[in-house]
Amino acid sequence: MMHPPQTPESLPAVRIAVMGVAGRMGQAIVLEALETSTVTVAGGVVRPAHPWSGLDLGACLGRKSLACRVVDSVQDVLETTDVVVDFTHPQSTLELIPLLSASHTALVCGTTGFQAQEFDALKVLSQEVPVVWAANMSLGINVLLSVVAQVRHLLGDGYDLEILDLHHRQKKDAPSGTALALASAGAQARDAHTADPVVLRQRGLIGARQKEEVGIGVLRGGTVAGEHTVFFLGTAERLELTHRAVDRRAFAQGALRAAQWVYSRPAGLYTMRDVLGLNDPQK
Ligand code: NAD
Repeated sequence: MMHPPQTPESLPAVRIAVMGVAGRMGQAIVLEALETSTVTVAGGVVRPAHPWSGLDLGACLGRKSLACRVVDSVQDVLETTDVVVDFTHPQSTLELIPLLSASHTALVCGTTGFQAQEFDALKVLSQEVPVVWAANMSLGINVLLSVVAQVRHLLGDGYDLEILDLHHRQKKDAPSGTALALASAGAQARDAHTADPVVLRQRGLIGARQKEEVGIGVLRGGTVAGEHTVFFLGTAERLELTHRAVDRRAFAQGALRAAQWVYSRPAGLYTMRDVLGLNDPQK
């Protein structure tokens, strides 16, 4: 039987430093932390020479003073930080890794767009400190990942798996990390031998669809926080599962939950499935 995830009140209180605090996710995480009594913001970090550097974080966000200065080096706040929360850019995350290794500080990382070799650096860090990484930290998407695997298993081979990825116009990477994770969840449930089933179809005479492939369609525009639809396309019916993030708070809430959860864990690389107890065989 599956239990609902733990509440913030049932997890340890933590002090977080927020990398990329001037970014869309950085701001959402601080604003969500202000609503969460069990999470304190120890510092907000911007890239060097950013106009917010040295200012009060609350004033930057249009709120009352938070008695917390924005810094341009995470090293300035590591002493009072339990967990670093990073939603930035792969290069920025790579620069953070040696600092976390030296200070033995836990990491919650939501940054996407890593090359395989870059991601290996996160794996190495996780041998020394606890790390949660997830392409999508919302509760809904992580439940969807479980459901997609189950549906694929239940429907069997007769249904084609296709995914739609819709995001705001500023998103840098494509397809989204979430679309790739959904493809992997669906493909693994069917055939563990398929190395990389993902197909991004080009314009032109591309030929018929291969049975094993998982097509991802990418749409970008406006301010869409994130939308994914997983299609199971049969010959006489189709099943569609859609997740819509209506606000970045969905990811911020997951990131704060992960920060509270990871703080007391041993070194290791964890996912939101671990944070939410979806990997626990007892549940
Ligand atoms: P954004 O561009 O609005 O913000 C990124 C911020 O990081 C910018 O303010 C940038 O100046 C800052 N930054 C870059 N290098 C830095 C450094 N060395 N030190 C400090 N700050 C630095 O982007 P965003 O929409 O907030 O997304 C950020 C990342 O999070 C992307 O990879 C995105 O795909 C990912 N994301 C993940 C989830 C999830 O649930 N895992 C959800 C939304 C976005």
